[in-house]
Amino acid sequence: MTVAPCGSRGRLLVTGAAEVLTCAAGAADLIGRVPGGSVLIEDGRIVAVGSLGAVAADVVVDAGGGVVMPGFVDCHTHVVFGGSRVDEYAARCAGSEPPPGVPIGIVGTMTATRPLDARALADASAPRLREMLAHGTTTVESKTGYGLARGAEIAMLEANRLLADEVGIDIVATYLGAHALPPGAGRAAYVDEVIATIPEVAERRLATFCDVYCDDGYFTLDESRRILEAGLAHGLRPKVHLDAYSHTGAAGLATELGATTVDHLNHTAATEIEALAAAGVIGVVMPLLDFAAQHPHPVHARTLADAGLRIALATDICPGCYTASMQVVIQHACRSGGLSVAQAIRASTFDAAAATGCADRVGSLEAGKQADLLILDTDRHEDLAYRIGHNAVRIVVRQGRVVV
Ligand SMILES: [Zn+2]
Repeated sequence: MTVAPCGSRGRLLVTGAAEVLTCAAGAADLIGRVPGGSVLIEDGRIVAVGSLGAVAADVVVDAGGGVVMPGFVDCHTHVVFGGSRVDEYAARCAGSEPPPGVPIGIVGTMTATRPLDARALADASAPRLREMLAHGTTTVESKTGYGLARGAEIAMLEANRLLADEVGIDIVATYLGAHALPPGAGRAAYVDEVIATIPEVAERRLATFCDVYCDDGYFTLDESRRILEAGLAHGLRPKVHLDAYSHTGAAGLATELGATTVDHLNHTAATEIEALAAAGVIGVVMPLLDFAAQHPHPVHARTLADAGLRIALATDICPGCYTASMQVVIQHACRSGGLSVAQAIRASTFDAAAATGCADRVGSLEAGKQADLLILDTDRHEDLAYRIGHNAVRIVVRQGRVVV
């Protein structure tokens, strides 16, 4: 396999693939499979994809008979945080309560995150993002929600900017001040604080989306509405964590406000799924969160897809679901969630890019798009679902440069 030197620019040709998956918008097979295709890249952008024949290029990357496909888009993560919850996880694996004093839940992570400034948060989170890149993820949505106070939430957003530059990965930020109620805070006062933080987030362009955790024990439907409407008023597009542990009715709010995504959906009613589908809202499914949390009511992705809902997959990497691999997500989505391999790949690329508001830029191999692509060590894309736990990514190209 010939590899282009890091930093090479000019015309770069990726050829010698067993198959190229474009995952383009109108692909009838969902993944746009082209046997033996090539990808031509110039100045970091895709110029042409398909059966290109002989093409002049400054650098040729031989895919060595592997699969070439778009970089994964991980459209729901909490990758920026301080501390570890391994003690809590290990105790729950043993079926016992965590010992006294170990960090538990969102508030446990908040305690470890709040003292860290943006620099320290970036240092703590960079290894996770590098691991994600090595597993083929080139675009990451990253939520706040472990500061749970204005200054600490802003520091999390500033850390995203440092990480995007230093790791070399695209990050789309989401302000999730309403992730949980911090201990000791009055409900109304904290909701007011979340809303009061939104203008600074918007003015400094620190986030694209505003998200709310609407569920039993978190934020009510009325509180969620106030926060999401305040975000919209400042140009932050809505996303909603909903119905993970109870039925909230927030699907109706998401439909009404034109949310980009609804995430979790464990207890969302069939009629609500139909309305979300009709409104063009994307459902984000995170099978490894259901696995790690041993969720009593795991989401069945195929049921949602059969109801017409556009599905995107994500790791939900966070202190309670510590995974960097969209490939393992695909493996679970196929066998536990009933998706076909093609459905799962599309939900991890083009549809995940739409869930992140950047389908015009990444998520598929199409002329004009950013040249983010993977070369796999297999000639069959189905191996992404079949080879459980294996990292099939051998080369990652981001913005036309080999970065892994
Ligand atoms: Zn989440």
